[in-house]
Amino acid sequence: MRNTLVVMAMTGWLALVGQPLLSAQTQTPTKGKPLEIDFIDVEGGQSTLIVSPSGESMLVDAGWPGFNGRDADRIAAAAKKAGLTRIDYMVVTHYHTDHVGGVPAIAAKLPIGTFVDHGETVEHDQQGDALYRAYLQVRDKGKHLQVKPGDTIPIKGLDVRVVAAAGEHLTTPLPLGGQPNPLCASFPARDPDPSENARSVGIVVTLGAFRFVDLGDLTWNKEHDLFCPNNVIGPVDLYLTTHHGLNQSNAPVAVHAMRPRVAVMNNGAKKGGSPEAWQTVHDSPGLLDLWQVHYAVAGGADHNVGESSSRTWTRPRRLASPSPHNATAASR
Ligand SMILES: [Zn+2]
Repeated sequence: MRNTLVVMAMTGWLALVGQPLLSAQTQTPTKGKPLEIDFIDVEGGQSTLIVSPSGESMLVDAGWPGFNGRDADRIAAAAKKAGLTRIDYMVVTHYHTDHVGGVPAIAAKLPIGTFVDHGETVEHDQQGDALYRAYLQVRDKGKHLQVKPGDTIPIKGLDVRVVAAAGEHLTTPLPLGGQPNPLCASFPARDPDPSENARSVGIVVTLGAFRFVDLGDLTWNKEHDLFCPNNVIGPVDLYLTTHHGLNQSNAPVAVHAMRPRVAVMNNGAKKGGSPEAWQTVHDSPGLLDLWQVHYAVAGGADHNVGESSSRTWTRPRRLASPSPHNATAASR
C-alpha cells in the first residue's frame, strides 16, 4: 500500500496535507489557479504531471509499460484529480522503458495533443527499436514537436524552456543564470555515456519567481557541460533529482550550482537513491527539504530521509516504505 502526501509550496515554504499524491503547488503572484506539479509514483520510473494555471497540462514521461497498466492507471488518476480530460503536451525525455514505455498505455486512456521529444533514438538494440516503434505509433496520431536547447514548449500560462536535448545543451543563460561556476574546477570527469540518458530532454519551468527543473536522466559529464563554465540555469526552487537519484548523475557541479530549495527524489525501493547522490542532494547549500518517493534500500539508515526530522535546517520526509510490490517493480 502506498503512503502518499501532498506538498504545497506556498511562497517558497512547504506544508503537508494528506492527499493521495505527491504534489507541489505554487501560489501565483496574482489571484487565480496555482501551478500544480504531481510527482507520480511509477516505482523507480519517471512521470511528472504539470498543470498550468491556464488549465493546460504537460506530462513529462509516462513510467513503465506492463504491470497490468499500473503506471497509466496512476497517471490517469492524477489527471482526473487535477480535473483534466486530456494531456496537452507529452514530453518524452528519452527512450528508455521507465520513461517512454508507458506512453502507449496513457495515450489509450487520454487524448494527447502534442508529443515533445529530442528526435530519433540512438539505441538500436532489439529493445530500443521496439520501444521507439511503439512510441512512434502513438506519436503519429498527434502533433509532434522536436526540441533543441533554447526552445520553448508553448504551454499556456507557463514559461517552459528546454535546456538540454539530444546531447546538446543550453549556452545562452536563462534569466537568473550565467554566473561563473567555481565547482567546475574540481569536476571529476567520467567515461562518456553513449546511451539515451545523455540525450535526455531537460526543462526549466518558470511561473513568476518560481522555478522547477527536470533534467530527465541526464548523466554526469552532460551535467558538467550544461553547468560549466557558467551556470546557465541559475538557482531553482524545486529540483527533481536527475536519473532517480542515481550516482551516475546528480554531480555536485550541477546540484549545488542550482541551490534548490526543495528536492524530490524519484527513486524506487531498489532503483535510484544511491548513497553518494543522496548525500550530494542532502548537502546542497540552501536546501530546505528533501522528499523521497520510496525508502531506498541501498541507502540504509544513513542515506534516507527520516519519517520525521530532528534537524532544524531541513525537514526531510519520505513517502513510502519498501514493500515486496515496490521492490519487484522497481528492480526491473
Ligand atoms: Zn530512468
